[in-house]
Amino acid sequence: MRVLITGGAGFIGSHLSDAYLARGDEVFVLDDLSTGSMENIKHLKAHPRFDYTIESVHHASVVAELVDQCDVVFHLAAAVGVKLIVESPVRTIETNVHGTEVVLQQANKKKKRVLIASTSEVYGLSNQVPFREDGNLVMGATTKGRWSYACSKAIDEFLALAYWREKKLPTTVVRLFNTVGPRQTGQYGMVIPTFVKQALAGRPITVYGDGSQTRCFTYVGDVVRALVALMDHPDAVGEVYNIGSSEEVSIQALAERVQALTDTTSSIVHVPYDEAYEEGFEDMPRRVPDISKIGSLIGYRPTVALDEILHRVITHFRDDASLRVSPRASQAGPTPAVAVH
Ligand code: UDP
Repeated sequence: MRVLITGGAGFIGSHLSDAYLARGDEVFVLDDLSTGSMENIKHLKAHPRFDYTIESVHHASVVAELVDQCDVVFHLAAAVGVKLIVESPVRTIETNVHGTEVVLQQANKKKKRVLIASTSEVYGLSNQVPFREDGNLVMGATTKGRWSYACSKAIDEFLALAYWREKKLPTTVVRLFNTVGPRQTGQYGMVIPTFVKQALAGRPITVYGDGSQTRCFTYVGDVVRALVALMDHPDAVGEVYNIGSSEEVSIQALAERVQALTDTTSSIVHVPYDEAYEEGFEDMPRRVPDISKIGSLIGYRPTVALDEILHRVITHFRDDASLRVSPRASQAGPTPAVAVH
């Protein structure tokens, strides 16, 4: 199979590329390197079944050409990370809405199967936990930048489902819940790499708000297996699936676990949301997926528990020579030994 992955140089896209190449398929990556990086795909560059194009997904003729060459399309290119979204709402909205429009338009010309990556953010302020795919999406005010991400992704979902209903373009939507693993930098606000890097550097671990907000973290390998299985399954067409884990943890408890597992001397500090993001920032208090729908279709269930995820992320950053530091030694000097990217 020939697989096009937009955002293929990103954290999840690069792991998806690895999986398809390992299966014997051919992979075409389209990425503008805005949040993705060559570092994520450098081990694939010489692979005979790997091809990459550095270009924006807004470039319709480039997308058209790549879609022509491929059998299926994963559209993962998007603005990611709450920090980036709050700081650059114009880019978020334009990237997410226009990029998806271009991909669906081009895929529709040749009726190529498309999987669109959406996000658990679309559940917004809903309190119908665990979140079911057919539950209500509850958006906050348009004056709060955070919700532009959820709204733009919800439009992507509407569009993908409309292409299926109206034009019989085979599309599937997935809502990804806090995915974690190697190659995620924490540069755009993701909590686990941020906490682990802080702990390894002996810097304070920054819990935003009072830390009572909860999340469920999924290992990237579990997510990738689910994506491949959904693309292979004919009944996934025209449907929306949560991909996540049911192991719920508060951010305060997460900070304490990172503290214990890294044996760091870092303290845990609380940072008000207004300072961490923007004035009046609203967080999602609980974010837990109902994963029964994807479980029934493909037998999906997460295989990597939170402690093992943390262990792998800690090992990843400890093995990274540029970040290597003795946690206790770093307390000695005033200058942090590790740059937090
Ligand atoms: N968070 C935190 N400290 C950080 C980064 C994030 O306490 O340094 C919190 C954030 O406010 C949210 C949770 O951790 O409640 C998960 O944040 P992330 O950005 O990883 O993903 P989100 O679930 O917000 O999309």
